[in-house]
Amino acid sequence: MTSEHRTDHAGPVIVWFRDDLRVADHPALHAAIELGQPIVALYLLDQQSTGIRPLGGAARWWLHQSLRSLGDSIAALGGRLVLRRGAAGPIIARLVHETDASAVFWNRRYGLAERTIDTAIKSDLRERGVDAHSFAGSLLFEPWTIQTGQGGSYSVFTPFWRACTAGAPPRAPYPTPAAIPGWAGDPTTAALVSDDLDDWGLQPSSPDWAGGLRASWTPGEASAQALLHIFLAESLPRYATERDEPAQNATSRLSPHLRWGEISPYQVWAATQTAQRGLRGSELASATRFLAEVGWREFAYHVLFHAPDLATENLRPAFDAFPWPPLDQDALAAWQQGRTGFALVDAGMRELWRTGSMHNRVRMVTASFLIKNMLVDWREGERWFWDTLVDADAASNPFGWQWVAGSGADAAPYFRIFNPELQAAKFDPHQQYIRENVPEYGTDAYPAPLVDLGETRRAALAAYERVKGQS
Ligand code: FAD
Repeated sequence: MTSEHRTDHAGPVIVWFRDDLRVADHPALHAAIELGQPIVALYLLDQQSTGIRPLGGAARWWLHQSLRSLGDSIAALGGRLVLRRGAAGPIIARLVHETDASAVFWNRRYGLAERTIDTAIKSDLRERGVDAHSFAGSLLFEPWTIQTGQGGSYSVFTPFWRACTAGAPPRAPYPTPAAIPGWAGDPTTAALVSDDLDDWGLQPSSPDWAGGLRASWTPGEASAQALLHIFLAESLPRYATERDEPAQNATSRLSPHLRWGEISPYQVWAATQTAQRGLRGSELASATRFLAEVGWREFAYHVLFHAPDLATENLRPAFDAFPWPPLDQDALAAWQQGRTGFALVDAGMRELWRTGSMHNRVRMVTASFLIKNMLVDWREGERWFWDTLVDADAASNPFGWQWVAGSGADAAPYFRIFNPELQAAKFDPHQQYIRENVPEYGTDAYPAPLVDLGETRRAALAAYERVKGQS
Protein backbone atom coordinates (compact mmCIF):
# COMPACT_ATOMS: atom_id res chain seq x y z
CA MET A 1 0.00 0.00 0.00
CA THR A 2 1.32 3.43 -0.79
CA SER A 3 0.65 6.43 1.43
CA GLU A 4 -0.99 8.02 -1.61
CA HIS A 5 -3.90 5.57 -1.36
CA ARG A 6 -4.15 5.33 2.43
CA THR A 7 -7.64 6.25 3.63
CA ASP A 8 -8.56 7.71 7.01
CA HIS A 9 -11.49 5.53 7.96
CA ALA A 10 -12.44 1.95 7.43
CA GLY A 11 -15.45 2.39 5.16
CA PRO A 12 -15.55 0.24 2.03
CA VAL A 13 -13.73 1.11 -1.15
CA ILE A 14 -15.91 1.43 -4.23
CA VAL A 15 -14.22 -0.03 -7.30
CA TRP A 16 -15.92 1.41 -10.36
CA PHE A 17 -15.62 -0.99 -13.32
CA ARG A 18 -15.88 0.54 -16.79
CA ASP A 19 -13.99 -0.63 -19.89
CA ASP A 20 -12.07 -3.13 -17.73
CA LEU A 21 -14.43 -6.05 -17.13
CA ARG A 22 -11.91 -8.40 -15.52
CA VAL A 23 -10.56 -9.26 -12.08
CA ALA A 24 -6.92 -10.06 -12.98
CA ASP A 25 -4.50 -7.23 -13.73
CA HIS A 26 -7.05 -4.66 -12.64
CA PRO A 27 -4.97 -1.90 -11.00
CA ALA A 28 -7.93 -0.19 -9.29
CA LEU A 29 -9.19 -3.47 -7.81
CA HIS A 30 -5.66 -4.47 -6.86
CA ALA A 31 -5.07 -1.20 -4.99
CA ALA A 32 -8.43 -1.50 -3.22
CA ILE A 33 -7.67 -5.03 -2.04
CA GLU A 34 -4.24 -3.89 -0.81
CA LEU A 35 -5.99 -1.44 1.51
CA GLY A 36 -7.55 -4.37 3.34
CA GLN A 37 -11.00 -2.81 3.43
CA PRO A 38 -14.25 -4.28 2.12
CA ILE A 39 -15.05 -3.65 -1.50
CA VAL A 40 -18.18 -2.55 -3.30
CA ALA A 41 -17.75 -3.46 -6.97
CA LEU A 42 -19.85 -1.21 -9.19
CA TYR A 43 -20.72 -1.10 -12.88
CA LEU A 44 -22.99 1.63 -14.06
CA LEU A 45 -24.60 2.07 -17.42
CA ASP A 46 -24.40 5.75 -18.21
CA GLN A 47 -25.52 6.51 -21.74
CA GLN A 48 -23.47 9.73 -21.67
CA SER A 49 -20.21 7.90 -21.24
CA THR A 50 -20.32 5.00 -23.64
CA GLY A 51 -17.87 6.47 -26.11
CA ILE A 52 -18.77 8.75 -28.99
CA ARG A 53 -22.49 7.86 -28.96
CA PRO A 54 -24.76 5.27 -27.31
CA LEU A 55 -23.51 1.71 -27.65
CA GLY A 56 -24.35 -0.13 -30.88
CA GLY A 57 -26.42 -3.31 -30.98
CA ALA A 58 -23.52 -5.78 -31.17
CA ALA A 59 -21.67 -3.97 -28.37
CA ARG A 60 -24.75 -4.10 -26.14
CA TRP A 61 -25.00 -7.84 -26.69
CA TRP A 62 -21.33 -8.25 -25.74
CA LEU A 63 -21.66 -6.05 -22.67
CA HIS A 64 -24.53 -8.17 -21.33
CA GLN A 65 -22.51 -11.38 -21.55
CA SER A 66 -19.38 -9.73 -20.22
CA LEU A 67 -21.14 -8.29 -17.16
CA ARG A 68 -22.68 -11.69 -16.42
CA SER A 69 -19.22 -13.23 -16.56
CA LEU A 70 -17.63 -10.48 -14.42
CA GLY A 71 -20.41 -10.79 -11.82
CA ASP A 72 -19.75 -14.54 -11.59
CA SER A 73 -15.97 -14.03 -11.22
CA ILE A 74 -16.43 -11.45 -8.48
CA ALA A 75 -18.95 -13.66 -6.65
CA ALA A 76 -16.60 -16.66 -6.84
CA LEU A 77 -13.99 -14.56 -5.02
CA GLY A 78 -16.39 -13.53 -2.27
CA GLY A 79 -17.55 -10.14 -3.59
CA ARG A 80 -20.61 -8.86 -5.36
CA LEU A 81 -21.10 -6.72 -8.47
CA VAL A 82 -23.65 -3.94 -8.03
CA LEU A 83 -25.29 -2.74 -11.26
CA ARG A 84 -26.77 0.72 -11.58
CA ARG A 85 -28.14 2.73 -14.48
CA GLY A 86 -28.07 6.52 -14.91
CA ALA A 87 -25.76 9.51 -14.72
CA ALA A 88 -22.51 8.52 -13.02
CA GLY A 89 -22.02 11.58 -10.77
CA PRO A 90 -25.22 11.35 -8.71
CA ILE A 91 -25.11 7.55 -8.53
CA ILE A 92 -21.56 7.49 -7.18
CA ALA A 93 -22.35 10.31 -4.71
CA ARG A 94 -25.37 8.39 -3.40
CA LEU A 95 -23.46 5.12 -3.12
CA VAL A 96 -20.62 6.82 -1.25
CA HIS A 97 -23.17 8.28 1.16
CA GLU A 98 -25.09 5.02 1.67
CA THR A 99 -22.02 2.92 2.30
CA ASP A 100 -19.92 5.56 4.04
CA ALA A 101 -17.23 4.65 1.51
CA SER A 102 -13.71 5.82 2.22
CA ALA A 103 -12.52 5.78 -1.37
CA VAL A 104 -13.53 5.32 -5.00
CA PHE A 105 -10.99 3.77 -7.38
CA TRP A 106 -11.17 3.30 -11.14
CA ASN A 107 -9.04 2.71 -14.22
CA ARG A 108 -8.86 5.61 -16.67
CA ARG A 109 -10.83 6.24 -19.86
CA TYR A 110 -9.61 8.43 -22.70
CA GLY A 111 -12.57 9.97 -24.57
CA LEU A 112 -13.33 13.61 -23.79
CA ALA A 113 -16.90 13.01 -22.51
CA GLU A 114 -15.68 10.26 -20.18
CA ARG A 115 -12.68 12.28 -18.97
CA THR A 116 -14.91 15.26 -18.23
CA ILE A 117 -17.28 13.08 -16.18
CA ASP A 118 -14.41 11.40 -14.31
CA THR A 119 -12.65 14.69 -13.51
CA ALA A 120 -15.84 16.20 -12.10
CA ILE A 121 -16.50 13.12 -9.97
CA LYS A 122 -12.93 13.05 -8.71
CA SER A 123 -12.97 16.66 -7.56
CA ASP A 124 -16.44 16.28 -6.01
CA LEU A 125 -15.30 13.23 -4.01
CA ARG A 126 -12.11 14.90 -2.87
CA GLU A 127 -14.08 17.94 -1.71
CA ARG A 128 -16.11 15.63 0.51
CA GLY A 129 -12.95 14.09 1.93
CA VAL A 130 -13.35 10.81 0.01
CA ASP A 131 -10.20 9.46 -1.59
CA ALA A 132 -10.61 9.24 -5.38
CA HIS A 133 -7.90 7.67 -7.41
CA SER A 134 -7.54 6.67 -11.05
CA PHE A 135 -5.12 4.09 -12.47
CA ALA A 136 -3.62 3.11 -15.82
CA GLY A 137 -5.20 -0.21 -16.79
CA SER A 138 -6.34 -0.08 -20.40
CA LEU A 139 -3.34 1.30 -22.30
CA LEU A 140 0.35 0.44 -22.03
CA PHE A 141 1.35 4.06 -22.56
CA GLU A 142 -0.81 6.87 -21.21
CA PRO A 143 -1.47 9.16 -24.21
CA TRP A 144 -0.08 12.35 -22.63
CA THR A 145 3.19 10.69 -21.60
CA ILE A 146 4.35 10.05 -25.17
CA GLN A 147 5.57 13.31 -26.62
CA THR A 148 7.59 14.44 -29.60
CA GLY A 149 10.89 16.28 -29.12
CA GLN A 150 8.87 19.51 -29.28
CA GLY A 151 6.49 18.30 -26.57
CA GLY A 152 3.55 17.70 -28.94
CA SER A 153 1.56 14.62 -29.88
CA TYR A 154 2.47 12.16 -32.63
CA SER A 155 0.69 11.94 -35.96
CA VAL A 156 2.85 9.19 -37.49
CA PHE A 157 2.86 5.64 -36.10
CA THR A 158 6.51 4.59 -36.50
CA PRO A 159 8.08 7.38 -34.42
CA PHE A 160 5.21 7.09 -31.94
CA TRP A 161 5.86 3.39 -31.38
CA ARG A 162 9.60 3.97 -31.31
CA ALA A 163 9.09 6.52 -28.54
CA CYS A 164 6.82 4.11 -26.64
CA THR A 165 9.22 1.20 -26.82
CA ALA A 166 12.35 3.26 -26.15
CA GLY A 167 11.39 3.86 -22.51
CA ALA A 168 10.81 1.50 -19.61
CA PRO A 169 8.91 -1.63 -20.65
CA PRO A 170 5.28 -1.99 -19.52
CA ARG A 171 4.87 -3.14 -15.91
CA ALA A 172 4.19 -6.81 -15.15
CA PRO A 173 0.49 -7.70 -14.84
CA TYR A 174 -1.08 -8.09 -11.39
CA PRO A 175 -2.26 -11.62 -10.59
CA THR A 176 -5.87 -12.66 -10.09
CA PRO A 177 -6.78 -11.66 -6.52
CA ALA A 178 -7.09 -14.50 -4.00
CA ALA A 179 -10.31 -12.96 -2.65
CA ILE A 180 -12.48 -9.88 -3.05
CA PRO A 181 -13.73 -9.03 0.44
CA GLY A 182 -17.37 -8.06 -0.01
CA TRP A 183 -19.02 -5.29 1.96
CA ALA A 184 -21.42 -6.69 4.56
CA GLY A 185 -23.06 -3.36 5.49
CA ASP A 186 -26.59 -3.01 6.68
CA PRO A 187 -28.64 -5.49 4.65
CA THR A 188 -31.51 -3.03 4.36
CA THR A 189 -29.36 -0.35 2.77
CA ALA A 190 -30.21 0.55 -0.79
CA ALA A 191 -26.51 0.27 -1.64
CA LEU A 192 -26.75 -3.51 -1.63
CA VAL A 193 -29.54 -3.56 -4.16
CA SER A 194 -28.38 -4.17 -7.70
CA ASP A 195 -30.33 -3.73 -10.91
CA ASP A 196 -31.22 -6.97 -12.63
CA LEU A 197 -29.01 -7.21 -15.74
CA ASP A 198 -31.92 -8.63 -17.74
CA ASP A 199 -33.90 -5.44 -17.11
CA TRP A 200 -31.32 -3.40 -18.99
CA GLY A 201 -32.53 -4.85 -22.29
CA LEU A 202 -29.04 -5.08 -23.74
CA GLN A 203 -29.78 -8.31 -25.60
CA PRO A 204 -31.94 -8.38 -28.73
CA SER A 205 -35.22 -10.26 -28.22
CA SER A 206 -37.70 -9.80 -31.04
CA PRO A 207 -36.11 -10.55 -33.35
CA ASP A 208 -33.18 -12.27 -31.67
CA TRP A 209 -30.48 -11.57 -34.27
CA ALA A 210 -27.60 -12.60 -32.00
CA GLY A 211 -27.37 -16.29 -32.99
CA GLY A 212 -24.30 -15.71 -35.15
CA LEU A 213 -22.63 -13.71 -32.39
CA ARG A 214 -23.25 -16.48 -29.86
CA ALA A 215 -21.82 -19.05 -32.29
CA SER A 216 -18.70 -16.93 -32.90
CA TRP A 217 -17.79 -15.56 -29.48
CA THR A 218 -17.65 -16.33 -25.77
CA PRO A 219 -17.32 -12.99 -24.00
CA GLY A 220 -15.53 -12.93 -20.64
CA GLU A 221 -12.13 -13.00 -19.03
CA ALA A 222 -11.60 -16.77 -19.12
CA SER A 223 -12.27 -17.00 -22.81
CA ALA A 224 -9.98 -14.01 -23.53
CA GLN A 225 -7.13 -15.77 -21.71
CA ALA A 226 -7.83 -19.00 -23.58
CA LEU A 227 -7.79 -17.20 -26.96
CA LEU A 228 -4.51 -15.47 -26.13
CA HIS A 229 -2.80 -18.71 -25.21
CA ILE A 230 -4.10 -20.61 -28.21
CA PHE A 231 -2.98 -17.77 -30.48
CA LEU A 232 0.52 -17.60 -28.95
CA ALA A 233 0.98 -21.37 -29.15
CA GLU A 234 -0.46 -21.91 -32.63
CA SER A 235 -0.37 -18.73 -34.70
CA LEU A 236 2.21 -16.27 -33.40
CA PRO A 237 5.12 -17.64 -35.49
CA ARG A 238 3.12 -17.33 -38.74
CA TYR A 239 1.34 -14.08 -37.83
CA ALA A 240 3.45 -11.78 -40.02
CA THR A 241 3.06 -13.88 -43.16
CA GLU A 242 -0.59 -14.93 -42.80
CA ARG A 243 -2.27 -12.10 -40.90
CA ASP A 244 -3.61 -10.54 -44.10
CA GLU A 245 -5.41 -13.66 -45.27
CA PRO A 246 -8.90 -13.83 -43.84
CA ALA A 247 -9.26 -17.59 -44.34
CA GLN A 248 -6.11 -18.41 -42.37
CA ASN A 249 -7.32 -17.74 -38.83
CA ALA A 250 -3.84 -16.37 -38.10
CA THR A 251 -4.76 -13.36 -35.96
CA SER A 252 -5.57 -13.35 -32.26
CA ARG A 253 -9.28 -12.31 -32.38
CA LEU A 254 -8.63 -10.49 -29.13
CA SER A 255 -10.02 -7.10 -30.20
CA PRO A 256 -13.45 -7.33 -28.50
CA HIS A 257 -11.85 -8.72 -25.36
CA LEU A 258 -9.40 -5.80 -25.35
CA ARG A 259 -12.21 -3.37 -26.14
CA TRP A 260 -14.17 -4.43 -23.06
CA GLY A 261 -11.06 -4.87 -20.95
CA GLU A 262 -11.63 -8.56 -20.32
CA ILE A 263 -7.93 -8.85 -20.96
CA SER A 264 -5.41 -6.05 -20.50
CA PRO A 265 -2.70 -5.04 -22.97
CA TYR A 266 -0.22 -5.65 -20.12
CA GLN A 267 -1.27 -9.31 -20.03
CA VAL A 268 -0.98 -9.55 -23.82
CA TRP A 269 2.42 -7.87 -23.73
CA ALA A 270 3.82 -10.08 -20.95
CA ALA A 271 2.52 -13.36 -22.39
CA THR A 272 3.93 -12.44 -25.83
CA GLN A 273 7.33 -11.65 -24.31
CA THR A 274 7.35 -15.11 -22.75
CA ALA A 275 6.13 -16.85 -25.91
CA GLN A 276 8.69 -15.16 -28.15
CA ARG A 277 11.65 -16.37 -26.12
CA GLY A 278 11.83 -19.58 -28.13
CA LEU A 279 11.48 -17.84 -31.51
CA ARG A 280 14.19 -16.87 -33.99
CA GLY A 281 14.42 -15.09 -37.35
CA SER A 282 11.14 -14.53 -39.16
CA GLU A 283 9.17 -16.12 -36.33
CA LEU A 284 10.60 -13.63 -33.87
CA ALA A 285 9.82 -10.84 -36.35
CA SER A 286 6.25 -12.13 -36.31
CA ALA A 287 6.01 -11.54 -32.57
CA THR A 288 7.40 -8.02 -32.99
CA ARG A 289 4.81 -7.41 -35.68
CA PHE A 290 2.01 -8.63 -33.41
CA LEU A 291 3.10 -6.28 -30.62
CA ALA A 292 3.24 -3.42 -33.14
CA GLU A 293 -0.42 -4.12 -34.01
CA VAL A 294 -1.21 -3.81 -30.31
CA GLY A 295 0.77 -0.56 -30.70
CA TRP A 296 -1.69 0.64 -33.37
CA ARG A 297 -4.41 0.39 -30.74
CA GLU A 298 -2.26 2.55 -28.45
CA PHE A 299 -1.73 5.00 -31.33
CA ALA A 300 -5.47 5.21 -32.06
CA TYR A 301 -6.07 6.18 -28.41
CA HIS A 302 -3.19 8.64 -28.50
CA VAL A 303 -4.81 10.29 -31.52
CA LEU A 304 -8.28 10.24 -29.91
CA PHE A 305 -6.93 11.80 -26.73
CA HIS A 306 -5.50 14.72 -28.68
CA ALA A 307 -8.37 14.92 -31.22
CA PRO A 308 -11.56 14.03 -29.31
CA ASP A 309 -13.76 14.70 -32.38
CA LEU A 310 -12.11 11.87 -34.29
CA ALA A 311 -15.46 10.29 -35.21
CA THR A 312 -16.95 13.45 -36.65
CA GLU A 313 -14.16 15.74 -37.88
CA ASN A 314 -11.51 15.11 -40.54
CA LEU A 315 -8.11 15.08 -38.86
CA ARG A 316 -6.78 16.75 -41.99
CA PRO A 317 -9.06 19.79 -42.47
CA ALA A 318 -8.25 19.88 -46.21
CA PHE A 319 -10.71 16.95 -46.49
CA ASP A 320 -13.55 19.24 -45.41
CA ALA A 321 -13.56 20.39 -49.05
CA PHE A 322 -14.25 16.85 -50.36
CA PRO A 323 -17.31 17.09 -52.64
CA TRP A 324 -19.35 14.11 -51.38
CA PRO A 325 -22.34 13.59 -53.71
CA PRO A 326 -25.84 13.22 -52.16
CA LEU A 327 -26.17 9.91 -50.32
CA ASP A 328 -27.83 7.09 -52.28
CA GLN A 329 -29.68 5.16 -49.54
CA ASP A 330 -30.26 2.08 -51.73
CA ALA A 331 -26.59 1.83 -52.59
CA LEU A 332 -25.66 2.25 -48.93
CA ALA A 333 -28.08 -0.56 -48.02
CA ALA A 334 -26.50 -2.80 -50.68
CA TRP A 335 -23.10 -2.24 -49.09
CA GLN A 336 -24.43 -2.81 -45.56
CA GLN A 337 -26.14 -6.03 -46.56
CA GLY A 338 -23.29 -7.40 -48.70
CA ARG A 339 -25.04 -7.08 -52.09
CA THR A 340 -22.51 -4.98 -54.03
CA GLY A 341 -21.59 -7.71 -56.51
CA PHE A 342 -17.95 -7.57 -55.41
CA ALA A 343 -17.27 -10.83 -53.64
CA LEU A 344 -14.65 -9.80 -51.07
CA VAL A 345 -16.66 -6.71 -50.11
CA ASP A 346 -19.86 -8.75 -49.76
CA ALA A 347 -18.09 -11.51 -47.84
CA GLY A 348 -16.77 -8.97 -45.35
CA MET A 349 -20.07 -7.17 -44.87
CA ARG A 350 -21.90 -10.46 -44.36
CA GLU A 351 -19.24 -11.72 -41.95
CA LEU A 352 -19.76 -8.48 -40.00
CA TRP A 353 -23.53 -8.86 -39.88
CA ARG A 354 -23.40 -12.53 -38.89
CA THR A 355 -20.51 -12.55 -36.39
CA GLY A 356 -20.10 -8.94 -35.22
CA SER A 357 -16.59 -8.83 -36.59
CA MET A 358 -14.58 -8.61 -39.79
CA HIS A 359 -11.00 -9.46 -40.65
CA ASN A 360 -8.70 -6.40 -40.71
CA ARG A 361 -7.71 -6.70 -44.38
CA VAL A 362 -11.37 -6.92 -45.35
CA ARG A 363 -12.26 -3.93 -43.12
CA MET A 364 -9.81 -1.94 -45.23
CA VAL A 365 -11.25 -3.23 -48.52
CA THR A 366 -14.91 -2.69 -47.58
CA ALA A 367 -14.15 0.78 -46.22
CA SER A 368 -12.18 1.76 -49.32
CA PHE A 369 -15.00 0.50 -51.54
CA LEU A 370 -17.60 2.59 -49.69
CA ILE A 371 -15.50 5.74 -49.64
CA LYS A 372 -13.76 5.59 -52.99
CA ASN A 373 -15.91 3.47 -55.30
CA MET A 374 -19.27 4.55 -53.91
CA LEU A 375 -18.17 8.07 -52.92
CA VAL A 376 -19.89 7.82 -49.54
CA ASP A 377 -18.57 9.92 -46.66
CA TRP A 378 -16.45 7.78 -44.31
CA ARG A 379 -18.67 8.87 -41.40
CA GLU A 380 -21.55 6.72 -42.78
CA GLY A 381 -19.31 3.66 -42.68
CA GLU A 382 -17.97 4.48 -39.24
CA ARG A 383 -21.54 4.62 -37.90
CA TRP A 384 -22.46 1.27 -39.45
CA PHE A 385 -19.37 -0.41 -38.01
CA TRP A 386 -20.11 1.19 -34.63
CA ASP A 387 -23.51 -0.47 -34.61
CA THR A 388 -22.43 -3.88 -35.88
CA LEU A 389 -18.93 -4.57 -34.49
CA VAL A 390 -18.50 -6.29 -31.13
CA ASP A 391 -15.11 -4.55 -30.84
CA ALA A 392 -16.42 -1.09 -31.88
CA ASP A 393 -14.45 1.46 -29.93
CA ALA A 394 -14.25 5.22 -29.88
CA ALA A 395 -10.61 5.24 -30.94
CA SER A 396 -9.83 2.36 -33.33
CA ASN A 397 -13.04 2.59 -35.36
CA PRO A 398 -12.96 6.26 -36.41
CA PHE A 399 -9.17 6.01 -36.58
CA GLY A 400 -9.46 3.07 -39.02
CA TRP A 401 -12.07 4.88 -41.15
CA GLN A 402 -10.03 8.06 -41.36
CA TRP A 403 -6.95 6.00 -42.14
CA VAL A 404 -8.67 4.46 -45.16
CA ALA A 405 -10.26 7.78 -46.18
CA GLY A 406 -6.87 9.48 -46.25
CA SER A 407 -8.05 12.18 -43.86
CA GLY A 408 -6.54 10.61 -40.75
CA ALA A 409 -3.28 10.16 -38.89
CA ASP A 410 -0.49 8.42 -40.85
CA ALA A 411 -3.25 7.53 -43.30
CA ALA A 412 -3.17 5.65 -46.57
CA PRO A 413 -2.95 8.30 -49.30
CA TYR A 414 -6.37 8.97 -50.77
CA PHE A 415 -5.25 8.12 -54.28
CA ARG A 416 -4.29 4.56 -53.23
CA ILE A 417 -7.60 2.90 -54.01
CA PHE A 418 -7.95 -0.80 -53.20
CA ASN A 419 -9.21 -2.86 -56.12
CA PRO A 420 -11.51 -5.40 -54.44
CA GLU A 421 -10.97 -7.99 -57.19
CA LEU A 422 -7.18 -7.81 -57.01
CA GLN A 423 -7.36 -7.86 -53.21
CA ALA A 424 -9.52 -11.00 -53.35
CA ALA A 425 -7.09 -12.70 -55.76
CA LYS A 426 -4.15 -11.85 -53.54
CA PHE A 427 -5.52 -12.46 -50.05
CA ASP A 428 -8.22 -15.08 -50.66
CA PRO A 429 -6.67 -16.94 -53.59
CA HIS A 430 -8.76 -20.09 -53.13
CA GLN A 431 -11.93 -18.10 -52.44
CA GLN A 432 -12.33 -19.96 -49.19
CA TYR A 433 -13.35 -16.85 -47.23
CA ILE A 434 -15.62 -15.68 -50.02
CA ARG A 435 -17.43 -19.01 -50.30
CA GLU A 436 -17.81 -19.29 -46.55
CA ASN A 437 -19.62 -15.96 -46.41
CA VAL A 438 -21.27 -15.70 -49.85
CA PRO A 439 -22.55 -19.18 -50.65
CA GLU A 440 -24.33 -18.07 -53.86
CA TYR A 441 -21.16 -16.52 -55.28
CA GLY A 442 -20.64 -17.65 -58.89
CA THR A 443 -24.33 -18.53 -59.43
CA ASP A 444 -27.09 -16.52 -61.15
CA ALA A 445 -28.42 -15.57 -57.73
CA TYR A 446 -25.36 -13.42 -57.05
CA PRO A 447 -25.97 -9.66 -57.61
CA ALA A 448 -24.49 -7.81 -60.59
CA PRO A 449 -21.72 -5.29 -59.79
CA LEU A 450 -23.09 -2.13 -58.21
CA VAL A 451 -20.46 0.11 -59.79
CA ASP A 452 -17.86 0.18 -62.53
CA LEU A 453 -14.50 0.00 -60.76
CA GLY A 454 -12.57 1.98 -63.37
CA GLU A 455 -15.15 4.73 -63.76
CA THR A 456 -15.67 5.21 -60.03
CA ARG A 457 -11.95 5.23 -59.47
CA ARG A 458 -11.56 8.05 -61.95
CA ALA A 459 -14.46 9.97 -60.35
CA ALA A 460 -12.90 9.56 -56.90
CA LEU A 461 -9.54 10.84 -58.08
CA ALA A 462 -11.23 13.82 -59.76
CA ALA A 463 -13.09 14.62 -56.52
CA TYR A 464 -9.81 14.36 -54.62
CA GLU A 465 -8.39 17.19 -56.75
CA ARG A 466 -10.59 19.54 -54.70
CA VAL A 467 -8.90 18.36 -51.49
CA LYS A 468 -5.46 18.70 -53.00
CA GLY A 469 -6.25 22.28 -53.84
CA GLN A 470 -6.88 22.96 -50.16
CA SER A 471 -3.68 21.50 -48.75
P1 FAD B 1 -4.69 -8.94 -34.28
O1 FAD B 1 -4.10 -8.85 -35.63
O2 FAD B 1 -4.52 -10.22 -33.53
O3 FAD B 1 -4.06 -7.73 -33.44
C1 FAD B 1 -3.97 -7.73 -32.01
C2 FAD B 1 -4.68 -6.53 -31.43
O4 FAD B 1 -4.07 -5.33 -31.88
C3 FAD B 1 -6.13 -6.41 -31.85
O5 FAD B 1 -6.96 -7.22 -31.06
C4 FAD B 1 -6.39 -4.93 -31.69
O6 FAD B 1 -6.68 -4.60 -30.35
C5 FAD B 1 -5.05 -4.32 -32.06
N1 FAD B 1 -5.05 -3.92 -33.48
C6 FAD B 1 -4.68 -4.64 -34.55
N2 FAD B 1 -4.75 -3.91 -35.68
C7 FAD B 1 -5.19 -2.69 -35.32
C8 FAD B 1 -5.47 -1.48 -36.03
N3 FAD B 1 -5.30 -1.38 -37.37
N4 FAD B 1 -5.91 -0.41 -35.32
C9 FAD B 1 -6.07 -0.47 -33.98
N5 FAD B 1 -5.81 -1.59 -33.26
C10 FAD B 1 -5.38 -2.67 -33.91
N6 FAD B 1 -10.23 -2.39 -34.11
C11 FAD B 1 -10.91 -2.36 -32.95
O7 FAD B 1 -10.44 -2.90 -31.95
N7 FAD B 1 -12.12 -1.74 -32.87
C12 FAD B 1 -12.69 -1.14 -33.95
O8 FAD B 1 -13.79 -0.57 -33.83
C13 FAD B 1 -12.00 -1.18 -35.19
N8 FAD B 1 -12.54 -0.62 -36.32
C14 FAD B 1 -11.81 -0.63 -37.50
C15 FAD B 1 -12.37 -0.02 -38.63
C16 FAD B 1 -11.66 0.01 -39.85
C17 FAD B 1 -12.25 0.68 -41.06
C18 FAD B 1 -10.40 -0.62 -39.91
C19 FAD B 1 -9.62 -0.63 -41.19
C20 FAD B 1 -9.85 -1.22 -38.79
C21 FAD B 1 -10.55 -1.25 -37.58
N9 FAD B 1 -10.02 -1.87 -36.41
C22 FAD B 1 -10.72 -1.82 -35.23
C23 FAD B 1 -8.65 -2.43 -36.41
C24 FAD B 1 -8.53 -3.93 -36.75
O9 FAD B 1 -9.26 -4.22 -37.90
C25 FAD B 1 -8.99 -4.85 -35.61
O10 FAD B 1 -8.40 -4.45 -34.39
C26 FAD B 1 -8.56 -6.30 -35.91
O11 FAD B 1 -9.19 -6.74 -37.09
C27 FAD B 1 -8.92 -7.20 -34.77
O12 FAD B 1 -8.57 -8.53 -35.05
P2 FAD B 1 -7.57 -9.30 -34.12
O13 FAD B 1 -7.95 -9.10 -32.69
O14 FAD B 1 -7.51 -10.71 -34.60
O15 FAD B 1 -6.22 -8.52 -34.40
